[in-house]
Amino acid sequence: MTVSPVYLDNNATTRCDPEVVAAMLPFFTEQFGNASSMHAFGSEVGGAIAKARRALADLLGAEFDHEIVYTGGGTEADSTAILSALETQTGRTEIITSAVEHPAVLTLVAHLEKTGRAKVHVIPVDARGRLDIEAYARALSDKTAIVSIMWANNETGTIFPVEQLARMAHGVGALFHTDAVQVVGKIPMDLKNSAIDMLSLSGHKLHGPKGIGALYVRKGVRLRPLIRGGHQERGRRAGTENAPAIIGLGKAVELAAAHMAQEQTTVKALRDRLEAGLLQRIGNSFVTGDVENRLPNTCNIAFEYIEGEAILLLMNREGIAASSGSACTSGSLEPSHVLRAMNIPYTAAHGAIRFSFSRENSEGDVDRVLEAMPPIIEKLRDMSPFWRERDVHTAAFNPTYA
Ligand SMILES: *Cc1c(COP(=O)(O)O)cnc(C)c1O
Repeated sequence: MTVSPVYLDNNATTRCDPEVVAAMLPFFTEQFGNASSMHAFGSEVGGAIAKARRALADLLGAEFDHEIVYTGGGTEADSTAILSALETQTGRTEIITSAVEHPAVLTLVAHLEKTGRAKVHVIPVDARGRLDIEAYARALSDKTAIVSIMWANNETGTIFPVEQLARMAHGVGALFHTDAVQVVGKIPMDLKNSAIDMLSLSGHKLHGPKGIGALYVRKGVRLRPLIRGGHQERGRRAGTENAPAIIGLGKAVELAAAHMAQEQTTVKALRDRLEAGLLQRIGNSFVTGDVENRLPNTCNIAFEYIEGEAILLLMNREGIAASSGSACTSGSLEPSHVLRAMNIPYTAAHGAIRFSFSRENSEGDVDRVLEAMPPIIEKLRDMSPFWRERDVHTAAFNPTYA
C-alpha cells in the first residue's frame, strides 16, 4: 500500500490548480488565435487576455490595467525592472539591494557590478533576517538609480517593510522595486495607495502555470523593454503573448483572491501546528527568520548538528517533500546565502529545513510530518560526530565547512 505524498515545498513551486488548467486548455485548441490579429480568432484571445489583466490588476490593487506587463516569469520581471532603471535614471549608477534576495536579483546585480555597469550596495540583515535600516539609509544617495528589496523572503518568510523602504528611496529620487513573488496571493495588496514603483510576481508560486509572470509598473514610471521586437504589451515586452499562460494566471489570480483569507487562518494554523509540534518533539532545533513578521505559509527550522540534504533524503523516503533552503545550490555543501547572511551558525544552518504550505495542505499532512520527523532526526544525530561531541563543538565551531 502506498500512502499519498505530502508536499510542503510550495515556495519552490505550487501545483497548477485543475481549474487553471481547464481555463487554459481552450487557448491551445479552438481559441488559438494571435491576440494581435485583426479577425475573430485574434480578438477573442485579446479579450480573454484583457480580462486576465484586469483580474491581476485587481489582486494587486493597481489603478490601471496597463500597469501590468506580462513576462516569462518572476526572474524576467526582476531583470526588466533593474535593467530598465539603470537606463531611465540618467546620471544614477548605483543599485541598492539586500543580502537575502533571490538569485534572480543577486546574480544579476553581481554581474552588473563585475562588468562595471553599476555600483551595488548589498544591505545586511540581522540574526532574525530583518533589514539593517540604518545601513540602508546610509547607502541611499542621489546616485541611487533603483532599490530592489523583496517583499518577503522565500526561505524564511520574513516580511520587509517595503512601504517605508520605498518612501526612503523616493526621498533621494530613486525608484523602488520589490520582488513580491512570494507575497502575491498570500497577503492583500493596495498598490494604488503605495509608494512601490515596480513589483515582480510569478504564476507558478500561486497555483498558476510556470513560465509566466508579470511586472507591475506604476503609471508614469518609464520602462525600457528587456526584449525588443513587436508592439505587444504596449511595446514594453515584445513577442507574441503567451495567451494560455496569461489566461491561466488570470484564473489563478481569481482563485487566490477567493482563498486569500484562508492564508491567515487555515494555512497559518497548519504551519503553526507543525512548527510548535516539531520544536516540542525535537530538541536542539529553532525557527529561523522573523517570527513576528512572517508569511503565513512558511516555516524554516534549523535542526542542529546534522545535514539538511540527509534530512530531505530520509523525508523523501517517507513521501514528504520540503526543501533545505538551498535548492539552487544543491550539490554544494555551502548552506544557503540567506542563513549565512543572518549569521546562523554553520552547525545549525546546515540542518535547516523549509516547510512551505499552500491551501492544498491538510491536517493529515501535518500529522504525517510530526510522526516522521523525530525518528529521522534521531537517526541522523546518532550518526553525527558533531552531535556526539556537541559540547566540544560550540555552535560557532565549523570544523569541516570553514
Ligand atoms: C521563485 C522566485 C523567483 C523566480 O520566479 P520564476 O518565475 O521561477 O522565474 C524570484 N523571486 C522569488 C522570491 C522567488 O521565490
